[in-house]
Amino acid sequence: MSSKKYETIIGLETHIQLGTKSKAFCGDDARFGGAPNTHISAISLGHPGTLPKLNKTQIEYAVKLSLALNAKINLTNNFDRKNYFYTDLPKGYQITQDNAPISVGGYVPIRLADGTVKNVELHHIHMEEDAGKSIHDLDSKNSMVDLNRAGVPLVEVVSEPDLRSGEEVDAFMNTLRRLVRWLDISDGNMEHGSMRCDCNVSIRPMGSQELFARCEVKNMNSMRFARKAIDFETKRQIKLVEKGGKVRQQTLQFDSVTGTTSPLRDKEDAHDYRYFPDPDLPPIVISPEELARIKSEMPALPWELYEKFTQEFQLSDYDTKILTEEKNIAFLMLELCKKHDNYKACANLLIDKVRPYLAENDLTDTEVNFPVERFSELLDLVAADKVSNSVASQKLFPEIWKNSDTPVADLAEKMNLIQSSDSDFLSDLADELLEKYPDKVAVYRKGKKGLIGFFMGELMKLSKGKANPKEANAILRKKLEG
Ligand code: MN
Repeated sequence: MSSKKYETIIGLETHIQLGTKSKAFCGDDARFGGAPNTHISAISLGHPGTLPKLNKTQIEYAVKLSLALNAKINLTNNFDRKNYFYTDLPKGYQITQDNAPISVGGYVPIRLADGTVKNVELHHIHMEEDAGKSIHDLDSKNSMVDLNRAGVPLVEVVSEPDLRSGEEVDAFMNTLRRLVRWLDISDGNMEHGSMRCDCNVSIRPMGSQELFARCEVKNMNSMRFARKAIDFETKRQIKLVEKGGKVRQQTLQFDSVTGTTSPLRDKEDAHDYRYFPDPDLPPIVISPEELARIKSEMPALPWELYEKFTQEFQLSDYDTKILTEEKNIAFLMLELCKKHDNYKACANLLIDKVRPYLAENDLTDTEVNFPVERFSELLDLVAADKVSNSVASQKLFPEIWKNSDTPVADLAEKMNLIQSSDSDFLSDLADELLEKYPDKVAVYRKGKKGLIGFFMGELMKLSKGKANPKEANAILRKKLEG
């Protein structure tokens, strides 16, 4: 079975739960969790006679995402009803968007392992509400239903069949997840189901333009599983076709334990859902002023900063990837580089010190007031040879957070850490050492010049890290040469 004979065609439908306080069409709490059936009201329960109300934040978040992905916003769009019956959908229909979604087109720029960027084309983005959750494994005789999630606002990002491998799917999901966190519109948490995707997988002979019947693997909530499901489906479909069979359009579920897919149901066609505009909700009209306001509030995007950091700051791909993973670090980098022009030193401080500090102190997902001014002063002190790199990172860095009102130079002075290039001071230290280790001095003088390392180490210790290494080295050598 040669996989080179075929290529895998993948399209993704990614559902992202928006981080609004209330649900899409009523005031119920939209947060994840809570005791079952506590985030509910007559509207979430779909009682007859209740009326939905638009949630402005859902619309604004969907616009932000669309703008970030270069999609064309439909300034007039509307909600439709998608009709089907299931226990976790008490209304008997889902409120979603069909003919006129919030935006069409656009693309997700993904960076592949070889460094190339691929723009994965999007078909459209639409808004909708989530359904509740059926639970089948709590009771041997009954199924349970939790409607806390019913009516929680989602956006669904529907890609073109533009992805070709598990690696690309991985990169796509990672890029989207980072983006929704960056825009503060979702926590992107896959374990809680804030992000999950349906993978449409088909194969075709290499070089063919024809699209074969596709299978849809539902509700992947882990990128690892998505990759596994795609690998399994690719192999299954190739084997089927090689044996002379035909792939049937189906909806599948993935079993994470066995790593296999199995049929859930034959795929419905769209007309089975009898979509029609929801008569209870007015069309959504976004004014040009409103759109301009949202545009003006958009932050610089991760891929824009990637360009800036690699081109303008001349940073490596490795450093840049880390620095553009989270918005707070990326923007801190921008701020710091306005104050200090050794960009590599700025990057090192953020990567080696600030990020670990945030992780250790559980501050990763919090708004942190960074002492940027102090960070830059710290880098200035190192650049001016006033403190050594190790003193800066081991002794001064942790103190900065506790003393953010004190200029770092004063702090270093107070802690007696300012490096000395005072030649009397260094000369005294060197004399002390030569006296302490006469044997080693003799060996050095016989030609074992490598011992300079030993003397330097001792001198730095004696000076409590305050000796300027360059000056100290010169003075030591002079004395050792005799
Ligand atoms: Mn959907």
